[in-house]
This record gives sequence, C-alpha cells and structure tokens, in this order.
Amino acid sequence: MNDPNKTPKKDKKPGGQTFLIILVSVLACLLVMGAFSGVFSDSSSRKISYDEFIKMLDDKEVKSVIVTGETLEITPVSDDKYVTMTYYTTKMEDDTALAQRLDRAGVKFSRKSSTFTSGLVEVLVSFVLPLVLFLVFFNVLMNRMNKGGGGVMGVGKSKAKSYVQKSTGVSFKDVAGEDEAKESLQEVVGFLHNPQKYVEIGAKLPKGVLLVGPPGTGKTLLAKAVAGEADVPFFSLSGSEFVEMFVGVGASRVRDLFEEAKKNAPCIIFIDEIDAIGKRRDGGAGSGGNDEREQTLNQLLAEMDGFDSSKGLLILGATNRPEVLDPALLRPGRFDRRVIVDRPDLKGRIAILKVHAKDVSMDDTVDFNEVALATSGAVGSDLANMVNEAAILAVKHGRMAVSQKDLLEAVEVVLVGQEKKDRILSAEERRIVSYHEVGHALLTALQKNTEPVQKITIIPRTMGALGYVMQVPEEEKYLNTKKELEARLVITLGGRAAEEIVFDTVTTGAANDIEQATSLARAMITQYGMSDRFGLMGLATEENKYLGGQAVLNCGDQTATEVDHEVMDLLRKSYDEALELLRGHREAMDKIAELLIERETITGKEFMKIYRECEGIPEPAEPVSSFDEAWEQIKKV
Ligand code: ADP
Repeated sequence: MNDPNKTPKKDKKPGGQTFLIILVSVLACLLVMGAFSGVFSDSSSRKISYDEFIKMLDDKEVKSVIVTGETLEITPVSDDKYVTMTYYTTKMEDDTALAQRLDRAGVKFSRKSSTFTSGLVEVLVSFVLPLVLFLVFFNVLMNRMNKGGGGVMGVGKSKAKSYVQKSTGVSFKDVAGEDEAKESLQEVVGFLHNPQKYVEIGAKLPKGVLLVGPPGTGKTLLAKAVAGEADVPFFSLSGSEFVEMFVGVGASRVRDLFEEAKKNAPCIIFIDEIDAIGKRRDGGAGSGGNDEREQTLNQLLAEMDGFDSSKGLLILGATNRPEVLDPALLRPGRFDRRVIVDRPDLKGRIAILKVHAKDVSMDDTVDFNEVALATSGAVGSDLANMVNEAAILAVKHGRMAVSQKDLLEAVEVVLVGQEKKDRILSAEERRIVSYHEVGHALLTALQKNTEPVQKITIIPRTMGALGYVMQVPEEEKYLNTKKELEARLVITLGGRAAEEIVFDTVTTGAANDIEQATSLARAMITQYGMSDRFGLMGLATEENKYLGGQAVLNCGDQTATEVDHEVMDLLRKSYDEALELLRGHREAMDKIAELLIERETITGKEFMKIYRECEGIPEPAEPVSSFDEAWEQIKKV
C-alpha cells in the first residue's frame, strides 16, 4: 500500500515510449521500402534462370540482349508465348562462350556500363526517399497524438504555452456574488502584487489554492479574475490534458509547465479538473493502468515542493470532487487553502443576472428578483445562458429589447428544454397529461407549506417532459421543515394519483415523479432523521456533493431492508393522502383540466381563480401600497 504522504519520486524516463517509437519507425520503414522497391522494379520484367535463357536462345526465342554489369536484359522475339512480356533479366553465369553463343544464334547484343549516378539514383529512390517520406508521415502522426504539441520532439511538452494569457482582462467586478470566495482570493492577489512585503515580515506565502464547487459556478472565471487583478500572466491547463497515452508524458508536461511558468513569474498556473491527475493513489497491486496518472501527480507534487513561492508563482486548482483528491496534494505547502465556490443564493443570482444583462437591452418589465426566485439551484453558467436565450427569444419575436416574458421563457428553455411542437399527442394522451399535471398543481393549493404555482403546461419539451407545473417560491429558503417535505412528497405523487382517480389505470408518465419521491423519502429517513423508527440515526452519507449528490447507505443489510420498508410506508402514506385530497376536490380538478386541455398552458393566477370559484374561497385582497388604499379595502369588507 502506498503511503499517501510519501515523498514524490521523480518520474521514470519514458523508456517504453522511446521503444515504441523506434519499433513503429522500423516497421514502417521496412513497409515503405518494400513498397518502393515494388513500385520501382519494372513490373513488365521477369527474372529467369540462366538455363532458361540458354534454352530460349536454343529455341531462337531471343531477339536481343543488353549486358549491364552482371545482369542480362533479354528482349524476346514477339511470338504468342512471350508477347505480353517486354524483357527478362537474368544473372550472368561465368560463361566465357556467351558472346559466341549469341553471335551464333544471330542475337543482337550490346554492353551498358552501370554508372555511379544511376547507382546513386537507385539508392536515393529505394532507400532515402522512403525514409524521408516515412519521417514526414511519422511527424504528422506524432503531431496529431500530441494535439498540436510540436511533433516528435514535442511529446511531453506542456501545452501551457498555447494557453498562456498575458492578461486575462477579467477582474473581480466580472464575478458576481461569491463574495466570500472573492474575499479569500483578494489576499492571494496581495501576495502576487508584492510577495517581498510578506517575505520580509517572515510570512510563508501560499503555493496552491483549491477552488471547490459545482460545475458552472465560476471557478475558472475567479481564477482569471485573480490573474487580472494581480496583472500577471495566466497559464491554464485542464487536468485531463496532462494524461496521455504514453507513460511519462504527463510528468514531463508538468515539468515543462513549471519551467515555463518560473520564467514568467510572477504568474498563475490554473489547473482545471485537478481530480483527473490528483485522484487518491490506491497503491493496490496491478494498478498499472494508473501508472501514468500517478507519475504525473508525483511530478506535480515534486514541482510544488521545489519552487520558491516568494517569486510570486501561485497554483490555482479547480475541482468539483474534492473528496477523491490524494491527501498528499492537500498537505501544507501544497494545496492547503480551500476556497468554496458554491451555488449562488438569491442575492448572488440577481447579481449574476445583472452582470450578464449589462450588455443586453432590457425593457422596463424586467424584474430580476422574480427570475432569481424561479431559478433556485441554478449556477452562474445557467444564468448567463438564460440571459442569452432571452436575448435570442426577443430577436425571434421581433423586439428590440428583452422583456420579463422572454426571461421567464428562457428559464424554462434552460431548465426543461425548448418546446417540442412537433410531438403530437393523441386526444386521450392530452387528457391524461392534463389531469396528471393538474393533480400536482391542485395538491400545492390544497396543502399548507407549499410553493405557489406559476404556470401549468402540457406542451412537451425537448428534455422529455410531456407537461409540467412550474412553482416559484415567495422567498429563498435555506432550510426545509419536515411538514414541507411531507407536502412535497404528496405533490410529487399527485400526478399518478390523478391518473388513477380519473382513468382507473396508471401510465408510464410518473416514472420521474416516482424516482424523485423515492429519493426524497429515503433522504428523510436516512439523512435528515425524520422517521420515527430510526430517529436520529444517520444511515447514509452523501457522496459527490458538488455533482448532484448521491446518498450511500452505511448500515448493515438487515437495517437496509428495514429502511426499504420504511421508505415504502412513507411513499404509500403520501400517495394515499394525495388520492384522498384529490377525490375530495374532483370538481376543481375537472374544471382546471378542461381549461388546460383547451389552452395547453394556464398561468398560476388562472389556476387559482378556478380553484377558488370551485371551492367558494373569496379572492384575496390586492396588495396595497398606501394607507388610503388599505382603508378603502377595509370599508368594502
Ligand atoms: P466553472 O469553472 O466553475 O465550471 P466557469 O468559470 O467556467 O465555471 O463559468 C462558466 C461561465 O458562467 C462563465 O464564463 C460566466 O459567464 C458564467 N458565470 C459563472 N459564475 C459566474 C459568476 N459568479 N458571475 C458571473 N458569471 C458567472
């Protein structure tokens, strides 16, 4: 087993790689030469033995002979037998009587001396030319394998040079939200600006900072902003780009990258997806497949130990899987600082929307607060994408500025895909989808602790939804109560419940709901301590937190079986509640479904209007902005 903290050894010389190159060279050379000798030998000549030649001569089948050095070039008489051949060649035997024989047979003969130049041409054509052609071909091949890394000699060269930016042109102003991350990195900018100041006082400068967070939260953008703020060059490479097919290439790339960066210090090296090379070394036997990655990691560790941070060289790494990183990488003196770049909260989302809307014309209807509320869980790249989609939609609709409607439509495009108008549902399917969606929506209105409905639609989307209910919370939530989660379970299973009530059968349309409800119920029992049976016992741990999160059970088999039963009970209870609530409000369900089938999309307001009419609930008072308005309303009541 490997010690995770072992001192990294220098990388092995890439012996396997050289051997492979030589082997391929020789094989290819032989092939090419063989091909060339075939090409340049005259296909119309045939080699015959001297005896055959003598026989031809006796049979009067030879027309003329040219003697070139040791070789006889024989031109046959053109009869049927030989008409397809132009001449034969044969090696001259030690035949002193040859001249007499030829003379006797009446065959014309002459002598041609083999010159130095013709010999040279022969050597050039049959050996040098194939070799040159082969080298050109091999160089092109290696270039491709190197993805532009500089030919045969460039194997193992880092590509950092092609990724270096003298100035990124990005500053902290371009990164919206993420205030804590920016604050931590501001310090780092100070180190890069004036490393000497810190050295004089005796402070050790950080060598590496790890940016940790889900994809699209702006880690690369932040790294560029650090370089921009410090006004230093920015070397950027992705972890996966180090690992190539040849063992040793990644390590020599790392070496080359650091060499190049040291020459340009102060500067920043940014390694995106650092987990591609920094994965925990398992040290198990037979881990030959990971040899290349381990060598690359060892080299990175060695380089990090080797450089003097007082020169102003800083390494920023980004990952969304910090838990898989090798502990040696996180040791003091390496990536010992961790900056969390998490999903933005409401304020952060508003700020990100504003940054991206800066260069887009927006009209007065735009309300970023509403958009941000509707996009809980979205990351910076999603929001940037939404603003762009909204601008495209505005152009498509022939408008000069983006409106709130465009933005809300763009939210849906990014979250559930484009409308798929060519998917024609049958009348019966439309009815089923409508009741299914109304089932979800009605249960949000019938229960407490739910988020209001913004829209119900049965227009299919490219990401697979045949219809959906859009809910928008009134305010950002950081915690969920048990009651809220229970209500969410009932809503999620409400689509299937509506199908059963109305059609007396069920469809495949609830697959995604069932998956969601099951994982929520399981989390409530195993992670949130919300079941009476298991109480506060933690039964699962979350893995891949920044990549959607997966709960992994950490209990015995018998407990796992009991957990399954508990999950089933909770789901059944929620489903029964959904059935009961919907059965009790059949009239509202029918009326809303009817309107949905007719219009395909209805707003949350239209939905609530019908619901209140059916249930005899009075309309709520309009929000008032002044005392006089409030007084008027009170008088009316
Ligand atoms: P990551 O490296 O975390 O995967 P990126 O830095 O590549 O994410 O972000 C992708 C894009 O998303 C950026 O180019 C930017 O347009 C947008 N973006 C992400 N986060 C932010 C943010 N906090 N502020 C502004 N734009 C952001």
